[in-house]
Amino acid sequence: SITSEAIIRWLQRVAQILHEKREYLTQLDAAIGDADHGINMDRGFKAVIEKLPSLANADIGAILKMVGTTLVSTVGGASGPLYGTAFLRAGIVTTGKSELRENDVVEMLAAMVEGIQVRGKAQAGEKTMLDAFLPALDVARQADLDEVEMAQLLNVCCQAAEEGAQRTLSLLATKGRASYLGERSVGHLDPGAISASYILAALAEAYG
Ligand code: ADP
Ligand code: MG
Ligand code: MG
Repeated sequence: SITSEAIIRWLQRVAQILHEKREYLTQLDAAIGDADHGINMDRGFKAVIEKLPSLANADIGAILKMVGTTLVSTVGGASGPLYGTAFLRAGIVTTGKSELRENDVVEMLAAMVEGIQVRGKAQAGEKTMLDAFLPALDVARQADLDEVEMAQLLNVCCQAAEEGAQRTLSLLATKGRASYLGERSVGHLDPGAISASYILAALAEAYG
């Protein structure tokens, strides 16, 4: 199972990756947005890391709710409320838990996707972060939860997210700032889909 300690390692790893990829994500956003996605995400997860010590003995739900409220208040733009709602919903479905089993992970991913869709009204194929999250949720739902090992579940999810993020290259943006470009959005990766794939990759790393 995934413990509270592993969740904390996950968030620390996310912060580290987003810091390392700050320029890259910002460049991706420069092509089809306003050149701030890496800056926004780095700022948000830096704030999350600063709050972790105060949650040393908290359950997973409390930790993830803190992530949600922190992202809402520090990231700004489109991605702040979207990731914020995703983590808030993840916190709600994990309230009181000190460990997550495979079915909890599927439920958490489903809650994150639902939060993003309630907030942003996007569907699959609109060239957003959902094009990384939805394939991850799809493979998680297809897994035989009585058979699959946690490491394997997390690996297939992060693989699907990574592939989904890469497929945004050829998609036409119909939500968010990138949609203002119309056809000119085609041929560029979506920055939010790439950051979403990093967040899921970090979970697999933190567990393994
Ligand atoms: P902003 O566009 O306000 O500057 P960011 O650059 O931080 O915010 O985030 C942009 C990312 O947000 C996009 O790459 C996309 O993945 C995601 N996004 C934008 N609108 C939506 C939406 N309606 N649903 C899901 N994701 C969205
Ligand atoms: Mg932007
Ligand atoms: Mg912006």
